[in-house]
Amino acid sequence: MTLAPAPAFAAQTTKKEPVDCEQVKCIALTFDDGPGQYAGTLLDTLKKNGAKATFFLEGQYVKSRPAFVKRMAAEGHELGNHSYSHPDFTKSDAGKIKSEIQKTQDAVKKAAGVEPKLLRPPYGLADVQVSDIASEFGMPMILWTAGSEDWSSKNVQAIQKQTLAVAKPNGIILMHDWVKQTVDGMPALIKTLKNKGYHLVTVSDVVKSEELEAGDIFPVPAGWEN
Ligand SMILES: [Zn+2]
Repeated sequence: MTLAPAPAFAAQTTKKEPVDCEQVKCIALTFDDGPGQYAGTLLDTLKKNGAKATFFLEGQYVKSRPAFVKRMAAEGHELGNHSYSHPDFTKSDAGKIKSEIQKTQDAVKKAAGVEPKLLRPPYGLADVQVSDIASEFGMPMILWTAGSEDWSSKNVQAIQKQTLAVAKPNGIILMHDWVKQTVDGMPALIKTLKNKGYHLVTVSDVVKSEELEAGDIFPVPAGWEN
């Protein structure tokens, strides 16, 4: 068991410290479809609490809100690719999928100077063709272990209750930074998760021991064959 630094010390630490998610309790909050209009407030909350998150960005919003993307990268969050305009990849041809991914890679690179290394296909839907293309781009596909159902409830208490009900070590939680109630409830949610002993880290931190390769999907959905 590794001793965690005292909270007062941790709060003052701005540099990213290595977190071993096989030794300590970790969770990855992930925010899809953004940057959403409340991303700035969310980033303020994350910064204040020394928490890291992963943003699965939609290229069209990267283009319209590049300053948020730049800030996400600068503040140590992980950036993932969530397509350019959110089509169902399992109903798209290869050319369309490649262009959706490439345009988003280009937009993120232009905004933040870095390229996403993870892909989350829209709706979490993928098939062998999508897997092959992800492989060409050198990216594993990341789904989620559970959802906050924030887009459906749009209620601060319900989002908190659902998230805490499904939180587990190395969990990957689906949320959205375009849902105002998610962002409004984030200070209290982070506080509660921390009180339960969780370190809020990036997806790459929680999947480290999985040793995912390009084209892999995680968690593997029911019925997935490759
Ligand atoms: Zn989405």
